[in-house]
Amino acid sequence: MTQSIATDFPATRTAALERLSRFVPHAGADYARMRNHDFGAGGHRHVSTLSPYLRHRLLTEAEVLEAVLGRHSPQAAEKFVQEVYWRSYWKGWLEQRPAVWEMYRSGLTAALDQVQTQSGLRRAWADACGGQTGIDAFDHWAQELRQRGYLHNHARMWFASIWIFTLRLPWELGADFFMRHLLDGDPASNTLGWRWVAGLQTRGKTYLARPDNIETYTGGRFRPKGLATVAIPLDGPEAPRIALPSVGQVDRDLPTALLLHDDDLSPGYLCDQVPAPLGTSFLSTVTERSPLHVAPHLESFVSDAMVDVATRWKDRLGELSPPKQQVEALALWAHETGARQIVTPYAPVGPNARALDALERHLTHDGIRLVRLRRAHDSAAWPHATHGFFKFKDKIPALLGALKGIGPV
Ligand SMILES: Cc1cc2nc3c(=O)[nH]c(=O)nc-3n(C[C@H](O)[C@H](O)[C@H](O)COP(=O)(O)OP(=O)(O)OC[C@H]3O[C@@H](n4cnc5c(N)ncnc54)[C@H](O)[C@@H]3O)c2cc1C
Repeated sequence: MTQSIATDFPATRTAALERLSRFVPHAGADYARMRNHDFGAGGHRHVSTLSPYLRHRLLTEAEVLEAVLGRHSPQAAEKFVQEVYWRSYWKGWLEQRPAVWEMYRSGLTAALDQVQTQSGLRRAWADACGGQTGIDAFDHWAQELRQRGYLHNHARMWFASIWIFTLRLPWELGADFFMRHLLDGDPASNTLGWRWVAGLQTRGKTYLARPDNIETYTGGRFRPKGLATVAIPLDGPEAPRIALPSVGQVDRDLPTALLLHDDDLSPGYLCDQVPAPLGTSFLSTVTERSPLHVAPHLESFVSDAMVDVATRWKDRLGELSPPKQQVEALALWAHETGARQIVTPYAPVGPNARALDALERHLTHDGIRLVRLRRAHDSAAWPHATHGFFKFKDKIPALLGALKGIGPV
C-alpha cells in the first residue's frame, strides 16, 4: 500500500493518540480564546487537528472527550466539548433527513453536467479548484487544501462563503471540492456545513466572509478585495424527517465474521460482541465520496488506516481478507467464510451505508444476516438532533454524564 502523501497526518492510531495528548493541555481556556485564529499550514496549534482521526474513528469522540475532561472541568472545556458534539449533532440530523444527502448528490450531478456544457462555468470552477481566482486568501486556501488535506474551520467558512456569494458557483461543486481533498471529508459535517453557509440549513441565515474579519483572524496575512458585501440565502426544498433506523442485535449462537469500513476503524466494541470471528474484511468506499477522482492523499490515508487497524487487531479479527470495493466481492467473501452473520459498525448516511444496503440484499438471498452495531455515543446523541444545535446543546451535560469510562474501542 502507498505511503500517505499528506504526511502531516500519518494514518495511525499512535499518531492520533500523540496528537491528542499534545492538544489536551490546550483544550480549555486556550482553545476558547484562540480557536478562531487561522495561522496557516504549520500554525494550526490552537485547534486539535484531530478531525481526520475522528472522521474515521481511529480515535472515538468518547475517547477525546474523556481525555479532555480528565484534565479540564466541563466548564473550562465547554467550547471544545461543544465542537466535538457538533460532529455528533450533524450526523444525527442527517441520519433523520437522508433526503438531504440525496438532494446534494443529485444537485452535484446536475452541476457537473453544467460544467460540461457551459465553458464559462467550467473555467470559473477550474480556477476556483486550482486556486487561480486572483482572490489571494481564497487561492491560498484552495492550495492548502489540495496539498495538506486539511483546512482550519474559519478558513472553511470563509472559503465556502466566497465560493457561493462572491464567485457565485453552485455550492454543491464547492462541497464536492472539499470531499475530494479533505482527509476528514464527511457527508454530514461537510454537506451541512456548506448548507449552513449558504443559508439552506438555518433558513435565511447565511455566513458572509468579511475582509476585516479575515484580516483579524489570519494574523494580518490576508485582507481580500472584491468580496461580496451581501449574502442572500439560497433556496431549496425542505427534507422530511424520518425515524432513526433501529439498532442491530448480534445473535451469539451464529458463526460470525466482521466487516470493517472507514466510518469506524476502532473495532473493540465489535470484538466484545464477537469474541472469535471466523474472519474479517474491509469495505472501502473512499472513491465514492465524489463522482470525480478523490485526491491520492485521501485514498492513501484510508488504506493506511485500514492497514493500521488490521495490524493492531490481528489477534482478534480471525482470518484477514483484503479491502474490497465491490459489494459482489464482499458477498462472495462472506459466503466463503461460512458465516451465517456479518457484524459491522453502523454506517451513517453516505457511501458506506449505501453499499451496506446493497450487500444486505445479497446476503439475505444467501441466508446470511447483516448486523449494523451502533455505538452508545451515537445512540445517545442522535435522537436529540431534531432541531437546531442550541436545543441539542442543552442535552450535552446529560450526554457527558452517561460517558462514564469508555471501555474497549
Ligand atoms: C463548509 C464547511 C465544511 C466542513 N466540512 C467538514 C468535513 O467534511 N468533515 C469534518 O469533520 N468537519 C467539517 N467541517 C467542520 C469543521 O470545520 C472541522 O471539523 C474542523 O475544522 C476540524 O478541525 P479540528 O479537528 O482542528 O477541529 P477542532 O476545533 O479541534 O474541533 C475538535 C473536533 O470537533 C469537531 N468539530 C469542530 N468543529 C466542527 C463543526 N463546525 N462541525 C462538525 N464538527 C466539528 C471535529 O470532529 C473536530 O475534530 C466543516 C465546516 C465547514 C464550515
